[in-house]
Amino acid sequence: MSYQLLSETDPVARKEYPCVWCPEKILKGEKHVHESSKYDGCFQDHRWHSECKLAADSSFLEFREEEFMPHACKRGTNEEA
Ligand SMILES: [Zn+2]
Repeated sequence: MSYQLLSETDPVARKEYPCVWCPEKILKGEKHVHESSKYDGCFQDHRWHSECKLAADSSFLEFREEEFMPHACKRGTNEEA
């Protein structure tokens, strides 16, 4: 398993996007985190609510585990939705 971060930016959404972490949408005009990365040789392009990215980062640190179920957590937390 390998993970490589290619870029991480915090753009303003020009349209609605699904957040990869929680079931809620990132709304047009909302500042969010756009992550481009490579995971086991596959390119990933994820968008996160800022607070979801923080929650994910802290849970990755805690569990040393970067695999997760998309859209499975409550917004801004690492609890199951
Ligand atoms: Zn979210």
